[in-house]
Amino acid sequence: MVKEKLFAKMSRKKIVAGNWKMNLIAQEAIALVEAIAQLKQNNTAVELMVFPPAIYLQALKHTSLKVGAQNFHPAEKGAFTGELSLNQLKDVGASIVLIGHSERRELFLESNSFLKEKVDAAFAHKMPIIFCCGEPLSIREAGTALEFVTLQLTESLFHLSPVQMVDVTIAYEPIWAIGTGKTATVEEAEAMHKGIRAAIEAHYQSSVIADSVSILYGGSCNATNAAELFACPNVDGGLIGGAALDAASFIAIANAF
Ligand code: PEP
Repeated sequence: MVKEKLFAKMSRKKIVAGNWKMNLIAQEAIALVEAIAQLKQNNTAVELMVFPPAIYLQALKHTSLKVGAQNFHPAEKGAFTGELSLNQLKDVGASIVLIGHSERRELFLESNSFLKEKVDAAFAHKMPIIFCCGEPLSIREAGTALEFVTLQLTESLFHLSPVQMVDVTIAYEPIWAIGTGKTATVEEAEAMHKGIRAAIEAHYQSSVIADSVSILYGGSCNATNAAELFACPNVDGGLIGGAALDAASFIAIANAF
């Protein structure tokens, strides 16, 4: 059993993803992607990907890094002023999307049911996803973080078939740790990642499915704390905000594996 678990951990995809949010202008975005690609060298142990502002996707189309979109609208097309569809994002080079980042949930009021529509739209387009989940501080302090996160997964993700579920990447990002410099402890991160895996196993009645899903940690992860977080048995990489805006620290995080 221990051997099987170790094998699952080894065979799960290791990912370090940079969420650039609403930062940088074109020249800076191009320079950053080039610097990351150059520093990356032969590190094949971990898949690197970046999520620039969508207007720069086209300019980054030819990079060797995987490039994704931070947001999209689930409709095919139509009267959604200011939004972008999956077809449009694919057209300019996005090959993966974030869904449910806490800033989308909190600032733009995206609900679990709306996020479910996004999940379905992405699967209809065969677009890989990183599904973000995580609790606010009040829920953490109330001691109900795992229940809160499990509900997010249940209402947006667990309608997927087992075959679809193995293709999902999850990012656990406690909201109180995002951009605050306050990282979850390794014990807190591991406990939640283990809990998420147990919730997948319970729902799909399958440890194979649960062991196949990569679960990333996000929230003030940096070059100093990445190694201890990534050493946790259930942590398969990181979704990085602030520290992803500097090529050297982003690569140092990737090299923490
Ligand atoms: C994020 O917003 O996804 C994130 C993890 O941000 P930071 O690393 O800056 O906390």
